[in-house]
Amino acid sequence: MRDAGSETRDRQREREQMLDHQLMRRGVIDSRVLAAMRKVPRHLFVDEALRERAYGDHPLPIGEGQTISQPFIVGLMSQLLGLTGSEKVLEVGTGSGYQAAVLAELARRVCSIERLPALAARARSLLESLGYTNVWVRVGCGTLGWPDEAPFDRILVTAGAPAVPPPLFEQLAEGGRMVLPVGQVAEQTLTVVEKVGGEMRTTAGAACVFVKLVGKYAWEN
Ligand code: SAH
Repeated sequence: MRDAGSETRDRQREREQMLDHQLMRRGVIDSRVLAAMRKVPRHLFVDEALRERAYGDHPLPIGEGQTISQPFIVGLMSQLLGLTGSEKVLEVGTGSGYQAAVLAELARRVCSIERLPALAARARSLLESLGYTNVWVRVGCGTLGWPDEAPFDRILVTAGAPAVPPPLFEQLAEGGRMVLPVGQVAEQTLTVVEKVGGEMRTTAGAACVFVKLVGKYAWEN
């Protein structure tokens, strides 16, 4: 029988390989992002039956028809946010809670909203058991943002939107930045939105495929 220590070492080795092959080689080079993804135990955010594949170069199902994003996409979006450690971040689409854990390593405070109660409950208890005390998970429609906690220095949407939901831009702080996939259901463009003098500046990035953002200011269910 394999002991717990060798299991831990195997997972660490898998994370090192993920950093080397999937992140750094493709341009995720922010040292804080790399340190966060070296630390967060991604395999715990997927079903036990999928653990062997947790560090592979692909998204994985997390139940309820949703997915945990591919490691490269998590790294890329985290890097695009440009976090220094002092920020208050809103995440829309908690899902497994993996991206929220990575953000918790990189920012001061993370507020994450998930529309599906079962996913939110599982993510909340896992994040708690891993000792994260700077992440809040709430059930609700993330296209409405989290007005009580606004403004946010950074906003990350981890589901594909037809357009930038207006409440999210309103709740973005001046000088703040939002990263989200915008486009059609089948494919989106990773988009960076900045608020400069109250105006929206957008920069289009790579093509990507996310599950649908469903809600008042997004796709219909
Ligand atoms: N960040 C997640 C990946 C999430 S997949 C992770 O690291 O695992 C996208 C998630 O967005 C799904 O869980 C889906 O239920 C959720 N979602 C879709 N529309 C939403 C909305 N309007 N508000 C909140 N969550 C939403």
